[in-house]
Amino acid sequence: MKAESALNESEGNQPSSGINPNLAEKIKTSRRREVVVENLFQRLLQGDKPALSQGITLVENNHPRHQEKAAQLVEKCLPHANRSIRIGITGVPGVGKSTFIESFGSYLADKGKKVAVLAVDPTSTISGGSILGDKTRMETLVNHKNAYIRPSASGDSLGGVAKKTRETIILCEAAGFDTLLIETVGVGQSETTVHSMTDFFLLLKLAGAGDELQGIKRGIMEMADAIVINKADGDNRKPAKRAQAEFRRALHLYPAKESRWSPKVLLCSAYYNEGIEEIWELISDFEKKLKENGHFSRKRQEQNKFWLLQTINEHLKSRFYQHPEMKKLLPQQLTALEKNKTTPFEAAAFLLEKYRSL
Ligand code: GDP
Repeated sequence: MKAESALNESEGNQPSSGINPNLAEKIKTSRRREVVVENLFQRLLQGDKPALSQGITLVENNHPRHQEKAAQLVEKCLPHANRSIRIGITGVPGVGKSTFIESFGSYLADKGKKVAVLAVDPTSTISGGSILGDKTRMETLVNHKNAYIRPSASGDSLGGVAKKTRETIILCEAAGFDTLLIETVGVGQSETTVHSMTDFFLLLKLAGAGDELQGIKRGIMEMADAIVINKADGDNRKPAKRAQAEFRRALHLYPAKESRWSPKVLLCSAYYNEGIEEIWELISDFEKKLKENGHFSRKRQEQNKFWLLQTINEHLKSRFYQHPEMKKLLPQQLTALEKNKTTPFEAAAFLLEKYRSL
């Protein structure tokens, strides 16, 4: 099918007469590229899921030619993005993230929300086998007409995965998805990353043996807009209630958030679909309050500024490290450092100076 050719654009070889054949060829290729991107964009805007998948595949592809098309597509989508609530969901493996997203996502999709599920998993590699694993486990949601599920982009750095996820958010929103669930597992900085691209951050917890607050990264408590204690069913109900009280007390000790939102602690059983509606009510309340006090859009603006700087940092870093000359000189300097023939600062100054003069 012609429209499916976004990833397989043929380069053609019929130069127009009269002008430099190379230039003519370049212009032709660039025009063809524009048509392909425009076509994909139009289908994506209609909410066409295969087009959305194709767009995300472009964004995830590291080949410069695909990156160029991806950038054009993202740019076209930008004015159509933003009309959504972006919800970050985190918790240790086994806490019930997949079960929760299946239950919560289905509830929202049944209500007529258009739900996109994304994941940020820095452990995911091209060969697969990531911690967040196989999204087809969400059987109901996968087949729901109002839902779209995409596994984590793979990449060799969290920065790379994060950039691709940011762009994927934009494409999903342009395709009409108004409720984004972005899942992550606490590896390295992945929670901070997801927090920096979402409006509402939800931490899933389990009731433990009275030591709920142990082993929890301090920063995560501060990021959370809600803590949801999952598996509050059967014999677990009582310990879950105790954990709820304990978390509530602990949250009081944290300074008030700039948004004036005070984080809440709720119980749920993702498996038995209990407490799901209350969680949505809470998020709706959050959205309403923060839109009223202006913090919702302010936070997104702050996030955009952060991402602008982040993109520059990543770009500069990758240009430096990918430069053939640096690839040659850096190992030499590292060896010199090992042999005490230079200092870290001297070596860095030398390399940066060399880079500047290239
Ligand atoms: P994830 O690793 O965080 O995605 O966790 P999963 O969603 O895969 O859940 C891990 C296990 O906990 C599975 O066996 C689920 O069936 C179970 N589970 C998830 N939510 C609940 C719940 O609310 N109640 C009970 N009893 N089990 C649950």
